[in-house]
Amino acid sequence: MENKWNELSAQAAIEKYRDVHEDIALRVYTSRLIGANPSLVLHGGGNTSVKSKIKNKVNEEVDVLYVKGSGWDLDTLEPPGLPGVLLDHLIKLRGLDSLSDEDMVNEQRTHLLDASSPNPSVETLLHAFLPHKFIDHSHADASLIIANQPDAEKICKEIYGDTIGIVSYIMPGFALAKAAAEVYEKNKNVEGLMLINHGLFTFGSTAKESYDRHINAVTMAEAYVANKQPKALTPLEGLAISADEKVLLNALAPVLRGLYFEKSGKSWVIHHRKNEKTKAFASSQECATWSQIGTATPDHVIRTKQKPLLLNLKQWQDTNALRNEVASALETYCENYHEYFKSNKEAKGVDKKELDPLPRVLLVAGLGLITIGKTVKETKIAADIYQHTVDIIHKSFSVGNYVPLKSNELFDMEYWSLEQAKLGKSKAPVLQGKVAYITGAASGIGLATANLFAEQGANLYLADLSQDKLIEAAEGIRNKHKVGVVARVLNVVDEDAVRDSFADLVANFGGVDFLISNAGNAVQGPIGQINLKDLRQSFELNFFAHQVLASEALRLFLIQKNGGVILFNASKAAFNPGKGFGPYALPKAAIVALTKQYALDYGQFGIRSNAINADRIRTSLFSEVVVAERAAARGLSTDDYFKSNLLQQEVFDTDVAQGFLNLALAEKTTGSIL
Ligand code: ZN
Repeated sequence: MENKWNELSAQAAIEKYRDVHEDIALRVYTSRLIGANPSLVLHGGGNTSVKSKIKNKVNEEVDVLYVKGSGWDLDTLEPPGLPGVLLDHLIKLRGLDSLSDEDMVNEQRTHLLDASSPNPSVETLLHAFLPHKFIDHSHADASLIIANQPDAEKICKEIYGDTIGIVSYIMPGFALAKAAAEVYEKNKNVEGLMLINHGLFTFGSTAKESYDRHINAVTMAEAYVANKQPKALTPLEGLAISADEKVLLNALAPVLRGLYFEKSGKSWVIHHRKNEKTKAFASSQECATWSQIGTATPDHVIRTKQKPLLLNLKQWQDTNALRNEVASALETYCENYHEYFKSNKEAKGVDKKELDPLPRVLLVAGLGLITIGKTVKETKIAADIYQHTVDIIHKSFSVGNYVPLKSNELFDMEYWSLEQAKLGKSKAPVLQGKVAYITGAASGIGLATANLFAEQGANLYLADLSQDKLIEAAEGIRNKHKVGVVARVLNVVDEDAVRDSFADLVANFGGVDFLISNAGNAVQGPIGQINLKDLRQSFELNFFAHQVLASEALRLFLIQKNGGVILFNASKAAFNPGKGFGPYALPKAAIVALTKQYALDYGQFGIRSNAINADRIRTSLFSEVVVAERAAARGLSTDDYFKSNLLQQEVFDTDVAQGFLNLALAEKTTGSIL
């Protein structure tokens, strides 16, 4: 593993953070070095600390432990992510015989320097009880391969001699902190500690020394692993699936989304991790046993659950048969989870509420790794973790064996209040887990709708003709909202491209809940004299494109089997045509009929279809010249033209967006033209 310490960068960090103590600046610098390497830590994993001194308000010098705060990731750490805790008090706690987790958190919080700091790491006491100035902790892949071996202690001796101490598995908290300090005190020459089934700690008197020792220890473990002959995976015999990945994913993902909704009443998004290694693992005979043992380090359990669901599909070409096959596999998984919960709860005599039993990680033969979550971020975290887990498991078996924590200990971790706190308790936005496909999304009504749906938590598939505007729109939404946003340059009159975009949509999110079919263009001309070709073109864009989009959304809705909403941007021209505007009004009138036809034909499946007849919105659809003409045709000034309605208020694109959202949420409204 490459040592990334760079003297100039270290000095630059001291300069950048000159408002804080140099100790903290360097602590941030090497924490980020560790955090930036996914083979060391993933998503909030690992923690670091530094011991320093400050003058308090009454000018007394006090010792302070700055340790990573919960909610911060090492790769993006900043000084406020290192809450300072009064060190003397933490050290005194070591004299206690026991300390509950709740009391530990309370002691840490009540001895913070800054009352507004985040909670210090659950491993704070371990950092406090060791005397070293700098301490680094990771869940490095290579150290987990060693730490999960049945003879880990012997292998550590072989690799490190007496330079790394061994700490038997104990859950993070007071007892682990005491045990780690005792191991250190038995041999004060150690440069670090290997925590069995958990990860690696190193320490030193400077940021560089602790970091160097960390990288060295991991590099030595990597060299040990690299020396072992990799175990060959045996491909599954008679693998039923030989389909193209995209075809298979398109068959499976909407079925999964539908079944998860059916089981939980909530919406989920699906992520497929394209990766040859995980695909080979999922398609191997070894996967059936190796994947069912447990997580590589305990805190992964809250992201991936203990075990992935395995699928080796037989029936993927027939949607109903596929649904039955997957439903039955899910049912078995959930029953096993209930049993795991019930038996551990009873054996431990604890009062816990069962978490939802649905798997977060799926290994699909012929396809590879799929993760499912309420947000795109959750799915990506689980995929990152499991991609590393596959490598750790495979290499562990190449070294010897893989013996991570057993179910009963993982249960303590999964149901530990301090771990669950990491997932946050904030109320989910109303459209969380939903997916909206919006055409004409780069500007005007489409963009306003995209922003509003994202604000409510929906993930977005944005299509538009204009690449530059689309990229800008997607970036703007990503910066404002924590939702998944995929942008696709698309001409909606290109039927093949539209159908392909739905395959792309499924590959990105697993399915769709709302189609906002908005793209259109105003074509003018006296109806008796217009060139037939121009009229047909207007119908292609303003009618047939909507029909193709709607039929594709419908196809997915019918597979998901949990409703779905089609929303058309029609136009008031359907009911109240304007002179010379026939080529636009005619297809828009047909859209109104189309809205009602979908409502009629598919209401029985809970699928809704509604439209908005927006009138006089200032968008790029109507150039200033056209607006001036329309206004003049009614004998009005431009501003009066926009306000000439009963409320005498101009209606904006954001108002139309609100209309789309209202129709999306109005669960018992269909066939409605707003
Ligand atoms: Zn840890």
